[in-house]
Amino acid sequence: MKCTICKHGETRLDVVTVTLQRGEATVIIRGVPGEVCQNCGGHFLSEGVTREILAHADRAVEAGTEVEALSDFPDLTAEDIRACLAFAAERERMLMTVPS
Ligand SMILES: [Zn+2]
Repeated sequence: MKCTICKHGETRLDVVTVTLQRGEATVIIRGVPGEVCQNCGGHFLSEGVTREILAHADRAVEAGTEVEALSDFPDLTAEDIRACLAFAAERERMLMTVPS
């Protein structure tokens, strides 16, 4: 799909590392499937993946975990990912970055 951030790049299915900050806690989630822009590096996650990540982040914060690794999204299909939505970082008052 066309990147909606830079409006130039094409996104490609890839696995990303998501860093979430919630209050004092930082949670790093590896192995998240998403679409990554080949131009600006911006990435897009499906709504289902976003929900999974937020749920994991909540659990990790409660448990005091800093690094959470996700290896499988059982219900996820390529179609889910292609129906990507921008990650609702601001709505959730979270920051998300992907190390280059
Ligand atoms: Zn882009």
